[in-house]
Amino acid sequence: MAQSELAIFGGPKAVQTDPGDVFQWPIITKEDEEAVLNVLRRGGMSGIDVTMEFEKEFAQWQGTRYALAFNNGTAALHAAMFGCKIGVGDEIICPSITYWASALPAFSLGATVVFADIDPETLCIDPQDIERHISERTKAIVVVHYLGHPADMDSIMEIARRHGLKVIEDVSHAQGGLYKGKKLGTFGDVAAFSLMSGKSFAIGEGGMLATNDLEIYERALAFGHYERYDERIQTESLKPFRGLPLGGYKYRMHQLSSAVGRVQLKYYDQRIAEIRRAMNYFWDLLEGVPGLKAHRVDESTGSNMAGWYAPHGIYQPEELGGLSVTRFAEAVRAEGSICSPGVNRPLHLHPLLNTCDVYGHGKPTRIAHSQRDVRQPKGSLPVSERIGRLTYSIPWFKRYRPEIIEEHARAFRKVAEHYQELLKDDPGDPPNLGGWHFFQHH
Ligand SMILES: *Cc1c(COP(=O)(O)O)cnc(C)c1O
Repeated sequence: MAQSELAIFGGPKAVQTDPGDVFQWPIITKEDEEAVLNVLRRGGMSGIDVTMEFEKEFAQWQGTRYALAFNNGTAALHAAMFGCKIGVGDEIICPSITYWASALPAFSLGATVVFADIDPETLCIDPQDIERHISERTKAIVVVHYLGHPADMDSIMEIARRHGLKVIEDVSHAQGGLYKGKKLGTFGDVAAFSLMSGKSFAIGEGGMLATNDLEIYERALAFGHYERYDERIQTESLKPFRGLPLGGYKYRMHQLSSAVGRVQLKYYDQRIAEIRRAMNYFWDLLEGVPGLKAHRVDESTGSNMAGWYAPHGIYQPEELGGLSVTRFAEAVRAEGSICSPGVNRPLHLHPLLNTCDVYGHGKPTRIAHSQRDVRQPKGSLPVSERIGRLTYSIPWFKRYRPEIIEEHARAFRKVAEHYQELLKDDPGDPPNLGGWHFFQHH
C-alpha cells in the first residue's frame, strides 16, 4: 500500500519549524514591567489615579467623550446594560453565539434575553433575525463583533432607530477594529470591552466602557464606582443617592491592570496591524482551496478584523465529500498546526437559559419577569445550532513571519486536498462541538 502523504497516516508533517514568538501574546516589555513595579512599590494597587489616566487615553484613542474602567469586561457589560436603563421585565436581543457575558448580566437587572440567530458568513448577529424578535418589551440590542468581524452596523442601527432601541456594542473581540472606516464601539449608545489576558487588547483582568452619552456614563459609574459617585455627578436623578453604589457592586479596575493598559495602548494599533498582515497572508495562501473559506472582511471597504481575536475559518463539508470538521481538524493537528472544531456553543440551549431558578422566583430566571415565555427550544435558531460543525479554529499569528505562516497554511491545504483518504475512518461530528468559552488558563 502506498504511503500516504498525510501526517495522520505517517507522512511527514507540514509544520516543521519552531514557532518561536509567533504566537506569544501579549507582548510584554521592560516598559510594562516598570509600570507595574511602580504601582506595586508605592502601594497604589487599589487607587484610581493610574486608571483615570488610562481612561483619558483610552477615550481619546477610541474617539468617545467618556471611558470608564472596570475590573473585567463582564462588569463593563453589566454597567452598560444598567446605563441603558435595562430593568425589570425588559428584553434584550443578543446573538446566541457569543461568550456568556454578552447576555447573562441582564438577569440580575430583572431583565431577560431573547436570542437572535447569526449570519453564517460574518458569524455576527443577523439583522433580519433581530427584527423578528423585537417585542414591545425589547429595550436594547447587544451586538458582538464576533472573532473580530464587524457586525452589519448599517442595518442594525437602522433597525434600532426605527424601533427606538438602545444598542450596546460588545467589542471584546474587536478592540481597535473598523467598520467602513469608523471605530467599532462608536456606532451604538455604549460599548463594553473585555481587556483580559486572552483578548487581543490584553492587560490582565480588566474591562472598559466607552460612550458619548453623559447619562449612560454616569449611571454606569453610579452602579459600581462608589469612590467617584460624588458631587461631580450632573445627572439629576442620580444626585440624591451619591456615596453608595446603586448596584451594590464594586467594579473598579486593579491598577496593575491599568498600568499595563497604558503601556499596551501605546503600541496596540501597530501590533494589531502586524497581526492583520500575518492573518491576511495566511488566508491569501488558502484562497480557492476547497472546503475552506476565510472568516474575514474585505479591507478595501474600510472595515477590518481588528486584532483577529481567536480566528476561525468557515468549513464547507459539501466540497470535501461530507468530511466531518472533527476529522478534518484532527488531521490538521497531526500536521503540526493548530485546529479545533467549532466555536462558542449556542447559549439558548444551555439549562441556565431554560430551567434554572437562580434567584428563587419560583420559576426559571429566564421568564421570572416575562409576560410571555421567551425561551427558545432546539430548532429555533438553525444557524447558531449548526455553526459548530461549520467552523474550525486556525492559528492566531501575532507576528508576520512568512515562512512559518506558509508551513501552517500548507498543513490546512494538504488536508483539504487529501480529504478522500480521511473519509473512510471518519467517525463524524459529536452532537455538541465547541465550548461555552474557549479561554485556556495557564
Ligand atoms: C471575554 C468576553 C467578555 C467578558 O469579559 P471578561 O473580561 O472576561 O469579563 C464579554 N464578551 C465577550 C464577547 C467576550 O469574549
